[in-house]
Amino acid sequence: MVKFNLWLWMVTFIICLSLNVEAAIESTCEFSTQKYASTLSKKNRVPLFVERAQFTEDTKSFLENLYLDRKKKFLRAIKEAPLRCPVEVKKAQMIVSKLLKNSEAKSLNSVELDVVVLCSKEQMPPIARLMAGKLLLLPISLFKKSKSDAHMAAVIAHEIAHLALFHYGRLRQAISDSNFKISRVDVSEIKKIHEDEADLTSLELLASAGYDPLKAVEHLKHVHELKDEKINETSKLSTHRPFESRLAFLNTQISNCY
Ligand SMILES: [Zn+2]
Repeated sequence: MVKFNLWLWMVTFIICLSLNVEAAIESTCEFSTQKYASTLSKKNRVPLFVERAQFTEDTKSFLENLYLDRKKKFLRAIKEAPLRCPVEVKKAQMIVSKLLKNSEAKSLNSVELDVVVLCSKEQMPPIARLMAGKLLLLPISLFKKSKSDAHMAAVIAHEIAHLALFHYGRLRQAISDSNFKISRVDVSEIKKIHEDEADLTSLELLASAGYDPLKAVEHLKHVHELKDEKINETSKLSTHRPFESRLAFLNTQISNCY
């Protein structure tokens, strides 16, 4: 009887121990801006740890020229937006500065970001785009179709994450390092990884700024439900995960980290 009790106790102890270990693993937040980016850069042949990312002069001048070129294209929108849709411009600036100010990503400490509200783009899906690495394009539809400021912040945080992680520069440098021999498949694989990085970093940015990271999931569902033809068209070319997979990816990270 004593022997049996001892055996039972040991089995119970081992089960409890393994459950605890499992719980500890599950509740561990594996991601931080630095850790995740460094892991991926090795895996992804982008040999640049994001914080130490160094770009050659060629890459720097390419990026600068591209930025100036794109900025020229949107110059009218940049100048006119404060008059044509002042409420949205003010709101955009408020959200952007809240996200930047509260971020722990060192790469955002002295960031240059042009926020461009496209006042006439009412029919677009409520999404955003970061052009040439530091030109944030926000269609007015983002303000009209989003459910709240926090949902808008989720979209903006994703774009700021691309900026924080130097995605544009890192991709360009990887292409340049390969003497422009890198295949389109490889580029698309790198972009997919960058989208994952941006999704996870956006949650970090949202939480640091006091926004609920779950809003990112809600907004994604909302955009999907709109079933906009333009989204369906662009999603074929998108380097984002497919909808269901992206939802699961975000949800896992939120339940593990926030
Ligand atoms: Zn993205």
